[in-house]
This record gives sequence, C-alpha cells and structure tokens, in this order.
Amino acid sequence: MKTIASLSLDLDNQWSYMKTHGDAGWDKFPTYLDVVVPRALSMLATRELSITFFVVGQDAALSKNGDALASIVAGGHEIGNHSFSHEPWLHLYSKQELVEEFEKAEEAIGNATGKRTTGFRGPGFSASPAVLEVLGERNYDYDCSTLPTYIAPLARAYYFFNSPKMSEEERQKRKKLFGKFSDGLQPLNPYVFQSNGRTLMEIPVTTFPIVKTPIHVSYLLYLATFSRAAAMRYWKLALTACSVLKVQPSLLLHPLDFLSGSDVDELKFFPAMGMPLEEKLGFVNDVLDLYTKQFRVVSMSEHARSVRLDGTASPTCREVLS
Ligand SMILES: [Zn+2]
Repeated sequence: MKTIASLSLDLDNQWSYMKTHGDAGWDKFPTYLDVVVPRALSMLATRELSITFFVVGQDAALSKNGDALASIVAGGHEIGNHSFSHEPWLHLYSKQELVEEFEKAEEAIGNATGKRTTGFRGPGFSASPAVLEVLGERNYDYDCSTLPTYIAPLARAYYFFNSPKMSEEERQKRKKLFGKFSDGLQPLNPYVFQSNGRTLMEIPVTTFPIVKTPIHVSYLLYLATFSRAAAMRYWKLALTACSVLKVQPSLLLHPLDFLSGSDVDELKFFPAMGMPLEEKLGFVNDVLDLYTKQFRVVSMSEHARSVRLDGTASPTCREVLS
C-alpha cells in the first residue's frame, strides 16, 4: 500500500501579498480568488483529490469572494484557518490579540463556508508558543505552521532585496519572515504535543530530508525558471528521499502556482510569475502526477487522523519554537 501524504493550498490573496510587501491599495482587498480557485479545483478534480484550503478570514468576510469559497466546499475539500488579517508577524501578537484574531477568522470562515475549522497554518510560517496555546484552548486538531528549513534567512534576504521601498519599521516587523535558521532542526514527520491538556498534532510543511531545502510547489517553480528538467529531478529525488527515510510528506500549493504575471500585474516581482500560464500549469500537473503516483494523497485532517490511528507520531517537545 502507498504511504500517506497530504496536500494543502494556502489561499493567500492579492491584497495579502501587497500588504506584506508594503504596497498601496492593499486595503481595498483586491482579489483574484475567482480566477485561481476554478483553476485549482479543476486540476484537483481530474485526480479526484480532496485537499485542504487554508482560508484567510478577511477574504471570507467579503461577499465578493463568496462564490469562490462556496465552490471549494462544493468540491469536497477541507477548509482550514489561515488567520484573519494574514500578518506574517502573528508571532508578535499578545495572547488577547490572538484570541480576537481566531474568533474573527472562525466567525467569518464559518459564515462563508458553513465549516468550523480544526486546522491552522500561520501566515508566512509564523508560530509562537502563544499561538499553540490558543489552538489548544480552541480545540484544534492540528497545526501545520512549521517549515523545517535552514534557508529562511536567505529567503528573507531575497525578499527584502526585492522590496527596496520598505521602511525600517516595516522591515523590523518582518524580521522573522519565513522563520529562523534553527527551524531546520525541527522534525519532518508529523508529531504530537500537549497544549492546554489537549493533544495537538503538528504536520510540518515537508522540506528535502536531511538538507532541509524547500520542496513546496512555488519553490519548484522557482527552480524551473532556471531548468524545468533539473527542477523535476530535484522533486523526484526529494520524493525518493522521503520514501527511503520514511517521511510522510505534506506538500504545499499557493495561488501564484496557478497564475501568471499577465493575470495580476502587481505581483509580477514574485519568482516564476514571468512563466507563461500554460507552461506553469503543465509543470504543476507534472509535480502532482509524480506525487500521486508514489503516495496516497489526502487532506491535512485526514493525514492527522491517520497518524493518530497509526500511533506513528512520537511526542516531541516544542521548545524549538520559543
Ligand atoms: Zn499565507
């Protein structure tokens, strides 16, 4: 039988990227969900995949996104919580601010989708002990905000280099964007931990075993801008390493994996946005082909459930987060 693996999509919207980048106009909440969601749903439907969409509460609160969000539920996918305001400096929030953030997100997402969220991914892989405490109090089943990689400081340097207009204050807020070097020490496989007397599961976003370089689809697309064949070889090798080292992978998609620069002018500065749409979708298709051929790909809650039933997750302390 194939090893279990999970797939999720962080439904970051155009405004949230503009906000993090410090661009004017984000507060009108420009949206591309009506373009991205049908493309993603059709690719998933041809493979009969049910995955997890992590929805931002602010998007759920706006009626202009209602149809796109309803179509995700109609497609049989899980809805997860990706915060209300999508601020990658969520780890700087006080406990009270976090409680309010969760209340707002759950209410808006619940109203738009009819679903109560039981899984969370922090914006920009931001996590803190207080976030985990709140997840425990609010009866969440799993968190998947960790990206065990050593290259976070490099990714951040690349990002700041491409954001020359950002003020010193804005840079300070983003100083842990994408995480820190020691994140690379975190485990790759799902594990359980205690928070407020409740057992929560952490499902890390998988990175290449041992070297811990990213393998999420946006990163593969970035590599493909240099050589598509090399990017596919890298992906194939990563999956082989997961199989050999018994890592249950969890792969992450982003809206920009389904968009080209001509769809959204303001985000042209992101890697791989110069790739023609057909080429990009073809590459993402090939990535999913390989993934589903080797693994039994399910949603995040299904992955968490299976690990709990198996008893394969080992208790691990979360001190690395603090
Ligand atoms: Zn996000």
